[in-house]
Amino acid sequence: MSNCAIVGVNWGDEGKGRMVDLLTSDYDVVVRYQGGGNAGHTVINELGKFALHLLPSGIFRKGVVNVLGNGVALDPENLWNEIEDVRSKGVPITPDNLKISDRASLLLPWHRDLDELEERRLADKKYGSTKQGIAPFYSDKYQKKTVLAGELFYPDEFKAHLRDIAEWKNLTLTSVYGAAPYTEERLSDWAAEYCEKIKPFICDTGEILKEAQKEGKNILFEAQLGSLRDLDYGIYPYTTSSNTTAAYAPIGSGLPSARLDRIIGVVKAYSTCVGEGPFVCEMFGEEAEKLRKEGFEYGAKTGRPRRVGPIDIVATRYGAEVQGTTEIALTKLDVLSYLDKIPVCTSYEIDGKKTDRFPFPAALNAAKPVIGYLDGWKCDISKIRRFEDLPAQAQKYVLYVENAIGCRIKYVSVGAERDSIIIR
Ligand code: GDP
Ligand code: MG
Repeated sequence: MSNCAIVGVNWGDEGKGRMVDLLTSDYDVVVRYQGGGNAGHTVINELGKFALHLLPSGIFRKGVVNVLGNGVALDPENLWNEIEDVRSKGVPITPDNLKISDRASLLLPWHRDLDELEERRLADKKYGSTKQGIAPFYSDKYQKKTVLAGELFYPDEFKAHLRDIAEWKNLTLTSVYGAAPYTEERLSDWAAEYCEKIKPFICDTGEILKEAQKEGKNILFEAQLGSLRDLDYGIYPYTTSSNTTAAYAPIGSGLPSARLDRIIGVVKAYSTCVGEGPFVCEMFGEEAEKLRKEGFEYGAKTGRPRRVGPIDIVATRYGAEVQGTTEIALTKLDVLSYLDKIPVCTSYEIDGKKTDRFPFPAALNAAKPVIGYLDGWKCDISKIRRFEDLPAQAQKYVLYVENAIGCRIKYVSVGAERDSIIIR
């Protein structure tokens, strides 16, 4: 039996979905344990190309049980639309291969409204939200002002609970933002339209995970975003509103007694960042445009052009440490093949002083990247499947990153397709 978490080490979009899809062949259960439908996990396999938002990336494997844990932001509307979309491409999704925790809190219709309304109020000080309602959802979860998915099995309680919360939420909607209140009719339409659809998937997933653990099954924990977006350890307030770290996997999955045997940290061979916030290694102009194009760096959820830069050793080392990675998957190495020399952010300079330590968030604005260069390889590496067959410069780049962040790179990804992988 083995438990493994696959987590992001950077700002997200490192290729976690791609790694989960690859490694699920060795696992019986895949659990998403935090975050919501704001994720964009791209998976390309024999069934086609998919951008998964809330569904676990194990959904394509026959025999794998996929779980949405209590830690996720469960948006019935978006989830149902996603289920329909993925099903329409020939992927069976049934209560046998998808199970939703009865303890997951529901993302309610006004959470998306409030996200939008607050970003509009913030204007040029906005956080760069994906407007999926994630921040208002988690705030309300911790204020105990949302409902649990399992309450759907108690219709009278569900209705009354929702009515009480709406009464409270309407005060904010109308008095703070001048928006329209929610009527009971609108809420019952929403419940009938979406909650009823996902109801057959809801069950006591904690019990299922406990049983799987007892039977010695292999469980994979799938995270959203990356270390630098972790609510407690990231670039607050430009973080997400949940914990993206592996340490949260036991809590958010529904198996609080789980021990993680492996923590695979996914690192991109260069840096990208969607939305606002300090991004020390950011490149601009033509150099950035070229990298963005080569890596096709446009958000899977929003289509927004991602900010790009060279690999940031300071942030990546910190990100790996925060995750407690036991091994690294380095992705998108093939994207760097066009470069004569490869820039690397080796350290930061703050007020004329060099530092290797990732600074406190407020100090990041004053940090400047110190850039070094490694030789490029200038040839297509996407068909290579053995480390020793990589050009010497590419091997050197991988070994440099491994040494600099202090964690073994076990996987090197050289393409988006399932088998475009080098295992060391
Ligand atoms: P996630 O959110 O961490 O799952 O990552 P995303 O799916 O948002 O972003 C990763 C993008 O890179 C996707 O478009 C993947 O198809 C693509 N990708 C993943 N690994 C590789 C790779 O090794 N090479 C190339 N060229 N693309 C990759
Ligand atoms: Mg993504």
